Amino acid sequence: MRRALTAAIAALTVTTAGTVVTGTPGQAALPGWGRPKPAAATPTPGSPGLGDSYFPDYGNGGYDVGHYDIRLRYEPATDRLSGTTTILATATQDLSRFNLDFLLGVESVRVNGWPATFAREGVHELAVTAPRPILKGQQLTVVVKYAGIPSETLVQGYTGWTRVADGALAVNEPESAWWWFPSNDHPKDKATWDISVSVPTGVEVISNGVQPRDPLPEAGNRTRWSWRSVKPGATYQAFLAIGQYDIVTDTAPNGQPVVNAYSTTLGERGPAARASIERTAEVVDWESGLFGPYPFEAQGGVAGPVDGIGFALETQSRPVYGHSFWRRGANVSVVVHENAHQWFGDSVSVADWRNIWLNEGFASYAEWLWSEEQGEGTAQELFDFTYASYPADSEFWQVLPGDPGAGDIFADAVYDRGAMALHQLRLAVGDEAFFRILPAWTAEHRYGNGTIAQFQALAERISGRDLDAVFTTWLFTAGRPEVATAARGTLAAPAQPKSWAEIQEAHRLLQH
Ligand SMILES: [Zn+2]
Repeated sequence: MRRALTAAIAALTVTTAGTVVTGTPGQAALPGWGRPKPAAATPTPGSPGLGDSYFPDYGNGGYDVGHYDIRLRYEPATDRLSGTTTILATATQDLSRFNLDFLLGVESVRVNGWPATFAREGVHELAVTAPRPILKGQQLTVVVKYAGIPSETLVQGYTGWTRVADGALAVNEPESAWWWFPSNDHPKDKATWDISVSVPTGVEVISNGVQPRDPLPEAGNRTRWSWRSVKPGATYQAFLAIGQYDIVTDTAPNGQPVVNAYSTTLGERGPAARASIERTAEVVDWESGLFGPYPFEAQGGVAGPVDGIGFALETQSRPVYGHSFWRRGANVSVVVHENAHQWFGDSVSVADWRNIWLNEGFASYAEWLWSEEQGEGTAQELFDFTYASYPADSEFWQVLPGDPGAGDIFADAVYDRGAMALHQLRLAVGDEAFFRILPAWTAEHRYGNGTIAQFQALAERISGRDLDAVFTTWLFTAGRPEVATAARGTLAAPAQPKSWAEIQEAHRLLQH
């Protein structure tokens, strides 16, 4: 994610009311589904969260989702969203009940065809009790029918669903799915998904991945758009952009489909958006050379409308960009940033949100590498500039990129000091090792999760060096680290060449 406006996003700290287990003594004695029930085990509720250290009630325990089929109907005139999500999952324990994360009004839930009871608990928990106990290893098909007005469904006054004049954007981090499909909403439970949305004919719907079929006319002058993601992704990577868009399709150098979409509301910012997003395939090609094979099945980008989001998000295979990024002209840096996340954040996701540096530090450093590649300032020059930009007594240095806290996962330090930390790692291990560490990391954790400790261990293994001092100093220690003048670049802060100083200023204006 790159923020364009200061108040764009607040990480929500939501607490769930204590979950009361409604024990049904007779339930455990009922025959299980599909195979005999072990005599000793008593089904228990799946936990209402996955124990994330920042957002403990995000996600749910007791099952693992393999696929979401999200079939929706949307009315831009009223923001009414209705539909059915079918979840294919596997039970990971004997379950008396389990939770989904969801906010809209639920009409019915069925589990393997059987009507289930359900209850709202806390802010975003939907507790589902099936009429029969669920056994560990059992395949689950959970069908949830629902409807609501996402823009009016508020949590602490906030909605992650952005209604705009001609449609809506379902784009947010770390909470997004709550407003449009029931899920196990934590990056630790990755799944594939199919998304289809029926809208009035003439409205476009863009989402992740590929289109398994052309938009299909439906009764009532409507059209159903279908999108498919075939590689596992985190729930917050799924997105919808609904409205008036010009769609540009092409083929990337690696043979993959490219789908770019531009809101027709962009006006004079439209050419700058196109001059940036149309370079996506070039950027992905360059990043593939640094980070390893591109992990997803399609590429592209969405330039959102002028009344839309104030940030950009690395939605899987197709980032979505707020209009502010084009206000000073083309901005390829943000395209570099969001597409770097396809490796760092999307394919390799945080195991716990406290590891957000693995996303933002790397995507920010990718911008420095791009600058270096383009001859617009080396990473060392950008390090020096950024280091000098924050006085030693700045609050900036008090946020630890390696453990920023739930309210600061998108703080400047995670991005800027995060990139500085990677540059210090590069200096410590040398370019040869550094540029082996990056693709090794994306290969070892492809379509999975990672922690900072795992990354440090990998970097130490490849470089053969003890890197504890680098990681401790740059990620886990408050205050501005001392940097020996000799270890820094030749450019002192006041003497930057104008070209990249201007570029960096543009970055900064956009990010803050
Ligand atoms: Zn980012």
